[in-house]
Amino acid sequence: MGRAYKVAALLLAGSMLTGAGPRTGAGTVNAQRIVNARSEPGNWLTHGGSYAEQRFADLGQINAGNVSQLGLAWSVDLDTSRGQEATPIVVDGTMFTTTAWSKVMALDAATGRVKWRFDPQVDKARGHSACCDVVNRGVAVWNGMVYVAALDGRLIALDADTGKVKWSSQTFIDTTKPYTMTGAPRVVKGLVIIGNGGAELGVRGYVTAYDAATGKKKWRFFTVPGDPAKGPDGEVSDSVLAGKAAPTWYGDYWKGGAGGTAWDAIVYDAELDQLYIGVGNGSPWNHQIRSEGKGDNLFLSSVLALKPDTGEYLWHYQGTPGETWDYTATQPIILSSLVIDGKPRKVLMQAPKNGFFYVIDRQGGKLISAKSFATQTWATGVDLKTGRPIEVPEARYRAAGALVMPSPLGAHNWQPMSFSPRTGLVYLPAQEIPQFYEAKTGFERQEGGWNLGISLAAGGVPDDRAQFKAIKSALKGRLIAWDPVAQKPAWEVGYDGPWNGGTLATAGNLVFQGNGGGGFQAFNASTGAKLWNFDAQTGIIAGAVSYAVKGEQYVAVMAGYGGAYPLTSGFEDPREVRNGRVLVFKLGGKRQLPRATQPVFAAANPPKDMFTPAQVTEGGTIYAGTCAFCHGPDAYSSGILPDLRRSAVLTDAATWKAVVHDGALKANGMVAFSRWYTPAQLEAVRAYVGEQAKKLAAREATTAGK
Ligand code: CA
Repeated sequence: MGRAYKVAALLLAGSMLTGAGPRTGAGTVNAQRIVNARSEPGNWLTHGGSYAEQRFADLGQINAGNVSQLGLAWSVDLDTSRGQEATPIVVDGTMFTTTAWSKVMALDAATGRVKWRFDPQVDKARGHSACCDVVNRGVAVWNGMVYVAALDGRLIALDADTGKVKWSSQTFIDTTKPYTMTGAPRVVKGLVIIGNGGAELGVRGYVTAYDAATGKKKWRFFTVPGDPAKGPDGEVSDSVLAGKAAPTWYGDYWKGGAGGTAWDAIVYDAELDQLYIGVGNGSPWNHQIRSEGKGDNLFLSSVLALKPDTGEYLWHYQGTPGETWDYTATQPIILSSLVIDGKPRKVLMQAPKNGFFYVIDRQGGKLISAKSFATQTWATGVDLKTGRPIEVPEARYRAAGALVMPSPLGAHNWQPMSFSPRTGLVYLPAQEIPQFYEAKTGFERQEGGWNLGISLAAGGVPDDRAQFKAIKSALKGRLIAWDPVAQKPAWEVGYDGPWNGGTLATAGNLVFQGNGGGGFQAFNASTGAKLWNFDAQTGIIAGAVSYAVKGEQYVAVMAGYGGAYPLTSGFEDPREVRNGRVLVFKLGGKRQLPRATQPVFAAANPPKDMFTPAQVTEGGTIYAGTCAFCHGPDAYSSGILPDLRRSAVLTDAATWKAVVHDGALKANGMVAFSRWYTPAQLEAVRAYVGEQAKKLAAREATTAGK
């Protein structure tokens, strides 16, 4: 406290000496301002609102009594229809946000006037490596600079006033590997910290810290051991990887990269001076293939605590030892103090993919409690003595395939949760999605392709309408108000489908959440009563923020559907492709969105060519292992990326080859698949998609089926 006062006094003295007024703007965002972010609720200075990342806006002008008068203050149309996942940063009346393809905008936070735009011109070919859409989750602001992590690995510092590049550092250890970067950087003690993704395709995870002023690398921590034949990395993680992690790995684990990518949660604990990193899943997913089915595989699926200045290891907690289901622990982390059994405890809260809500003591990393917040079939609980899950052995799909919940999309994914210190509740966007896991026999790595080690056969989406509807109705989303002390829900709101937005809690006793159906809603934070809804005309997955300009409170959210679920689920209703928007609300706001047109879908477009059953079968296998991750399983597309069954390209062999084999549409992100497949193999994919188009045409001829 004394130190904070001294620095504040020095700053004040400085401004008096120069004759300037109180300093404001992005140039004054520094450690003191972010550490004390709660004292200036009119700003949203860092990704989670403050270093504790509670996503609680201590503003009550908009409240449970008057939220019905909330209306659109302004909106800005975006130039992309891909998913919008960013949390805007707001500093003294200026909003800094990102859109898909890592583009950055600075806006007047009261009017929406665009101050500047920055496009890093990401090579669209990198989109093929993006497991979960070409999204970006936002910027960091520090000392007059705005930091964006571009999909292609560049960490770029921009002048906050002009958007001009100040420095750019390539963070990928090997740009030929299928790494991607989608997360929001965090600035801690003058260092920009960032990780990356790619564990579905086969990479080795790490986080790196860069000097915020110069972009010079300060330290790097690899989350999993590398190839022992190559010796140590020469990084700060060397000793703990050799001593603690490597003994938990078996076989030729390094050949597939091993995984452990840290693509989202990076949280600074200013009270204890610790940095928490959420670590991702194994690569390939299948533990049997990755590590001979043996060992915990540290630090996969763990929360890692590091010293922020040096990256040195402090402690870890691993929720899913021997991860084999894509159960990342990259999900958002919230810091708080809770009174547990009569004692105040400094805790870290996380609800990762595996379906447990963890409360962990930040001093030392001991697990305090863990309870399931969603349907789980892989474990029956957590042993608090050992901190280990009590597993259901069959769920490891060793002898036979197993239907498991949660799915690789998680009982909770990256969508931010929030915590209200007033209600003591965590507002958690949860979901229920089952997955059939079956080990892939004869697994062979495909460099740069998807390498999961599980069998993804064609035919997972039933053509039978009754079966289709039965599965679709089992896919659910929920907003859960979770009591982290009692470890149980206080209230819940159900949604028709999964993949809804992040949450924001406010001092107006409100919780804001967008949903996949396009509603942006406000709930009573104590009771869950729905108080307000706005039709955003596109699904919302991002988390909202709140801020104030000249005494007026605003609520802002990035609208734009996309991300992993609509790309990879075959059970989404087809949607019209619509560009995203920045939506900002205030009391009495009167603006209207332009009226949305009714979606018109092209008819199914089967080719007239004759194909052999062998072609269709071969094409189905290739499609399931490659194409399905963007265009939807069994060619059932949500419309975020083109529905190939309705595509004019499908009817003509030469056009198909030009696009799929040669890469004629690479400027749109459709890379040349000649790297992996022969023209004959890709023609077989056309045969398979053609069959799917025929089935769709038959359904469309009888009913308005999907
Ligand atoms: Ca993953």
